[in-house]
Amino acid sequence: TNFIGLGMDESLNDALSRYGITTPSPVQAETIPLMLEGRDVLAQSQTGSGKTLAYLLPILQRINPEQKELQALILAPTQELAMQIVRECERYGEERGITSLGLIGGAAIKRQIEKLRRHPHIAVGTPGRINELIGLRKLKMHQTNVIVVDEVDQVLGLGGGTDVQRIIKSARRDRQLVFLSATINEEIHQIANREMNDHAIVGI
Ligand code: AMP
Repeated sequence: TNFIGLGMDESLNDALSRYGITTPSPVQAETIPLMLEGRDVLAQSQTGSGKTLAYLLPILQRINPEQKELQALILAPTQELAMQIVRECERYGEERGITSLGLIGGAAIKRQIEKLRRHPHIAVGTPGRINELIGLRKLKMHQTNVIVVDEVDQVLGLGGGTDVQRIIKSARRDRQLVFLSATINEEIHQIANREMNDHAIVGI
């Protein structure tokens, strides 16, 4: 099967082809249709499995570029991974008019606040800084339809659990929530059971 068969539209499929991506990886084949349906998902996936595009493609397809609001939030354990995800957002989102912004702890918060005034469609960041910006009321999530936590196991290992819980709580109740993790332990199942709504489990 190809990306069209998973429900992706032609323009994203064409953009993927230009980067030599024509056949969905297993985590993509499972996750993309579930996310397009709006399901909450807990996915076990390793780095290199294509996990980034597994959640990013349905996000890009479901964003309304005309609506200048923060429609998707992606959390990552490290600044490096967050900026890598921003680059993927730019690569596949730019021609649809989708804007993205990296919000990491190592960078100047003043500039981030200025850039948030332009209302990017997607924010990608580390939990501490994202939580800080929410607390300052500079990052508003009333139009945020989907929250992804990438590498949940690492986020929790680095002590980001409390920030993630706060961020989830500040979003709308009907938001879509997606976790990806190399390993899924009891704590991750518990958080998913508490915060997600009838979630699908992928890759276990
Ligand atoms: P990730 O697991 O998200 O870190 O992705 C690892 C690498 O695989 C990235 O460079 C992607 O561009 C690439 N990639 C993702 N999905 C596919 C695919 N379906 N076919 C070929 N390469 C892919």
